[in-house]
Parts: sequence; C-alpha cells; structure tokens
Amino acid sequence: MLDLTLGLLYFFLVTAFAFAAVILRTIDARGFLASVAVGFLIIYGGGVQWFIIVAVFFALGVGVTLYKYGYKKKIGGAQEKGGARNWPNILANGGLASVFAACEYFHPGTAFAALFLGSISTAAADTAATELGLLSRSKPRLITRPGREVTPGTSGGVSPLGFAGAFLASLVIGGMAFVLGVLGQTAPLPEVLSLCAIGGVSGAVVDSLIGATVQRRGHCRVCLKQTESVRHCGEKTIMTGGVPFVENNVVNLLATLAGAGFALGFFALV
Ligand SMILES: [Zn+2]
Repeated sequence: MLDLTLGLLYFFLVTAFAFAAVILRTIDARGFLASVAVGFLIIYGGGVQWFIIVAVFFALGVGVTLYKYGYKKKIGGAQEKGGARNWPNILANGGLASVFAACEYFHPGTAFAALFLGSISTAAADTAATELGLLSRSKPRLITRPGREVTPGTSGGVSPLGFAGAFLASLVIGGMAFVLGVLGQTAPLPEVLSLCAIGGVSGAVVDSLIGATVQRRGHCRVCLKQTESVRHCGEKTIMTGGVPFVENNVVNLLATLAGAGFALGFFALV
C-alpha cells in the first residue's frame, strides 16, 4: 500500500528543502534530520498541499525572526544562533502536525485537516506574536495579571502588537489553506480563515497562559540574567520557579495541541 516511487520522490523533495534550510542557516545539522522526518510524514500523509502550508509557516517564521534582528539582539530578546531552529524546536512546532498527517493517511477526511491547520496556525501565530511582540513600544503585560508590566521576551507577556501578529500569521495560513483546498475544495473562504484564526490565536493565548504559570523559570549562573532557557552561556540554568520539564518546547507542543483542539471544535460547530 505504500507507493515506493512516490515515497522516494517525496523523500528527495523534502531532503532538498531541508538541505536548503541548513545552507541558509535556518536549521542546524540535527534539525535537518528532524525536518526530513516531519516533512516526509506531512507530504506523504497529507499531500503536497499540506507540505506547502508547512513551508509557508517556515518561511513566515524565518521572516519574522530575522525582521529587525539587530534590535532584538540589542534588547536581549533575539533567538540564539541567528534564529537557527534546532531539533526539539522543530518537533515542538511540527511534531503534532506530522502525527495528524499520518492519521490523515489512514483516515482521509477533513477532521485531521482541521486539526493540522489548528496546530500549524498556532505555531505560526505564536512565532509571529513572540517576534513582533519584541518590537512593541509599550511594555508587554503578563496575561494572567494585566496590571503587571514585564520585559519584552518574558514568557506569558502579551502586547497588542503580539496579538496583531498572531492574528495576521493565522490569516496567512488560512489564506493559503483556502487556495490549496486543504479543508476540502468546497470549504468557503470565511470558514477556512475563521478556523485558522480561532485555532492560531487561541493556541497562542494558551502558550502565553502556560508561559505565565507553569513554565520553568530560572537564572543563568554565568551572566546572572533571568531566562526561560534550560541552558544559558553554555551552562545549565538554576531553576527559580515553574515545573522542571515544562520548558519552552514543551509549552509550544502543548499550545499546538490546544490550537488543534480549538480548530476542530470550531470545525465541528460550522
Ligand atoms: Zn547567561
């Protein structure tokens, strides 16, 4: 039942894309392997349309990450290594989507497409909210305590610019999904856009809620900065709050799960 010729063709296509991403320094070497695995499941399980959606998300992510990178670096909020994604990062953002693609292969229909779009919209929305939120002129406020201002880049911090970014990124995914007919050729544009906006924005909100509550917090023993990273300046950070294993990638994974659930919920209602 597996088509070998098609499988090989897809494999080479995905490998070529991942290789280009390494050359462009947008993923690191081990990220390459994770990308090939995730990419192959998505293109083989969901089809070329699903793969294009993921490629759009990836390009969008690279774009917003590198946008005003120098300024973000200056305020200490820039992604490390020039924004190159590593393997835990790729699995956190695309792992669930690849599981939905594998399910779609065995049970074709639109339910898994809705889940897939919800998870990818969340990943896109969260990335855009994080990166554009860093550029906010007004200080972000803690989502659980809006009266409290936090420094840009703090998990759980939200800003109007971040919300706008989350919304727009979801609409980009929704627009592409409509053009490609991911949710079926007859799904109307407003429905596809709403599904992605609801999935993406609510997923990003869940990301912020987890970030503000149970996400692991710590400080670096080298530079003494507060950080959510498990490692900083090459050393393991000292935990000061939150739950030990709930680091950024775990938060992202849970958020994509929530976004997928909201999208499916919306899909079931319309
Ligand atoms: Zn440090």
